[in-house]
Amino acid sequence: MSGKPHTLVFSDLDGTLLDHQSYEWYAAAPAIDALKSINAGLILASSKTAPEVATVRAELKIEHWPAIVENGAGVLASHSDDCKEVSQYRSLLSSLQKISPSLRRHFTGFDDMPVKKVADITDLSVKNAALAKQRAFSEPGIWTGNNAEKEIFLKLLREEGIHAQQGGRFLTLSYGANKADQLLMLAKQFEPCRTIALGDAPNDIAMLEAADIGVIVANPDAPPLPMLDGEAEGRIIRTKDAGPNGWNATILDLIANPPFNENTIH
Ligand SMILES: [Mg+2]
Repeated sequence: MSGKPHTLVFSDLDGTLLDHQSYEWYAAAPAIDALKSINAGLILASSKTAPEVATVRAELKIEHWPAIVENGAGVLASHSDDCKEVSQYRSLLSSLQKISPSLRRHFTGFDDMPVKKVADITDLSVKNAALAKQRAFSEPGIWTGNNAEKEIFLKLLREEGIHAQQGGRFLTLSYGANKADQLLMLAKQFEPCRTIALGDAPNDIAMLEAADIGVIVANPDAPPLPMLDGEAEGRIIRTKDAGPNGWNATILDLIANPPFNENTIH
């Protein structure tokens, strides 16, 4: 990509740009084309791994942009199918190996599981589960011990600089960066006049708040996000329609309005 983009759009995938059920993005094609026509950047920001995101990024023909992967724990470079540099992941796994077996046995990470097991617990196909196992920055897993044991486990990991985030199903270990950190880092690198972020879930909130404009994409299959600070001032808005339909309508609407105007002062 040459020159500075006027606008950088950061988008979550599942339930945001991809339909919650079908995983398709076609409903957003008009807005994606419109973004390309005004030379705006589109940066995917997902909990998926680099090879998983690379597949979607190639379909969208936006390989010339980097992508935020593993929930913000890392970035997939432009024109790359996976992260060649996996030293963070190796270091995370070696920290796990230092923990005494009596505690370690309560955490079953993706690296500990065969592909079939990952497919079973994630509802991914075996092929996609294999991609989900190709990690570079973070390790999701299942905790089976009690809370007291978990506290000790997490304290030992913290001493190694490793943070843990408990999601609905997985306890995910990483060195702490989130989608918002990567948005700010990439905005510093590309120096757009304006950033827009779209997401549907709690793990998108920091990114929605870090962008100039945040768009909460409706997801009828999940509890609605709480009212965010920026909503009262109109800096954060909500789509009417779910998933890629809402994404499409809102981006087209924003393109037609001043935030995309070349004369907008940041
Ligand atoms: Mg989502």
